[in-house]
Amino acid sequence: MEKDEKLMEKITSLCKRRGFIYPGSEIYGGLAGTFDYGPLGVALKNNIKTLWWKKFVDGRVDMYGVDAAILMNSAVWQASGHVDTFTEALVECGKCHKRFREDHLKEKGKCDECGGDTGLSRKFNGMFKTQIGAVEDSSSTVYLRPETAQGMFVNFKNIIDSFHPKLPFGMAQIGKAFRNEITPRDFIFRVREFEQMEIEYFIKDEDWEKYFEYWKDEMLAWMEGMGIDMNKVHELEVEKEDLAHYSKRTIDFEFDFPFGLKELYGLAYRTDFDLKSHNLIYQDEETSSKIVPHVIEPTFGVDRTVLALMLSAYTEDNGGIETRPYLAFKPSVAPVVCAVSPLLKNKPELRDYAHILYRTLKDEFGRVMWDDNGNIGKRYRRQDEIGTPWCIVVDFDTLTDDTVTIRDRDTGVQERIKKVDIIDYIKERMN
Ligand code: ATP
Repeated sequence: MEKDEKLMEKITSLCKRRGFIYPGSEIYGGLAGTFDYGPLGVALKNNIKTLWWKKFVDGRVDMYGVDAAILMNSAVWQASGHVDTFTEALVECGKCHKRFREDHLKEKGKCDECGGDTGLSRKFNGMFKTQIGAVEDSSSTVYLRPETAQGMFVNFKNIIDSFHPKLPFGMAQIGKAFRNEITPRDFIFRVREFEQMEIEYFIKDEDWEKYFEYWKDEMLAWMEGMGIDMNKVHELEVEKEDLAHYSKRTIDFEFDFPFGLKELYGLAYRTDFDLKSHNLIYQDEETSSKIVPHVIEPTFGVDRTVLALMLSAYTEDNGGIETRPYLAFKPSVAPVVCAVSPLLKNKPELRDYAHILYRTLKDEFGRVMWDDNGNIGKRYRRQDEIGTPWCIVVDFDTLTDDTVTIRDRDTGVQERIKKVDIIDYIKERMN
């Protein structure tokens, strides 16, 4: 446990120091439950989202992508059940007045902080409320969406009218969601503003078990493909009494985080609950029969993916004199694909050559870093720490034979290759 707690500390401090993730509004003392992604964090997050879209939208023939508004008519949240049931049981310690989600307490009725009595719970709605327009009355209340799912359901008819899809088909969306979490905690695991990647897959009701299994396999394949440590992933069949108001069956994919086994992703059979609530139907164009399709929903948190990936990739190489920490990201996921350096900073002929190479590689891969600070060993360390798979160095031999050294992050081995072969070398190894 001690080792694991240190791991969270290491990841959190690395994220801040190296420009992955900063506490939100930090110069004003922060804002609990919010984080800002820096350049490397944005790159990592963008890679996750791009790969997800590629696999689940562009890579398929039955998926329709949308990007719905975050603010929606409040009637949506009435119909979806969120106004009445998107609640948590909130308790407050009678002694230190700290607040907790009742189901998060280590011991029921006892404060996690001081051991005081928490007393009875009360319901707390997790949706953020705001006002739209200049006049503040009840008709102007809107909510920040607590899930992206409803943005898809309300566009179900639009997609049918524009594209005439046949069942089964899906809608997919990546976007922000907001929840007024009682106790945001564990870095980016439980925050108040986060991103989701969600799919609503519409099926005939008799097929739900088949597609539930199908999506379970797809989700597992995604995790494995991203480089999430599968030894740390566990499936939890959610008990009947714990199911969300819309679900008949849910599996949580839990990840062995240093702070416990916790939900990474979810897979829910939402039945026909949502389409029925919104009075939406599907008409089979061939038979003219009208049905209410059922829904399988695979849902993926972007921020929890970032954390699970960081934890899966973090490695300490103890083979040398000093411990060498590195992030063993797959090249397709890594924020930086390769770094380019001149061997010596103060030799213009090396710098000029390296800089032209840097621009060429940047045009090709985008995620390329220039690094000429300190000695080569230090540069390698810095790139290892942010998970850059390859470091390319221009030295005096380069000037005579157009070859460079390319160093592998995981093995530390350097190879000498021709400058003209660098792009193919990287592309062949990009997975
Ligand atoms: P939890 O039980 O941990 O509160 P949940 O069951 O309410 O989560 P879902 O409603 O299934 O979560 O949300 C779908 C996904 O969105 C989750 O699997 C998770 O990846 C992500 N998610 C949910 N709440 C948060 C949060 N507060 N911070 C970051 N990600 C979140």
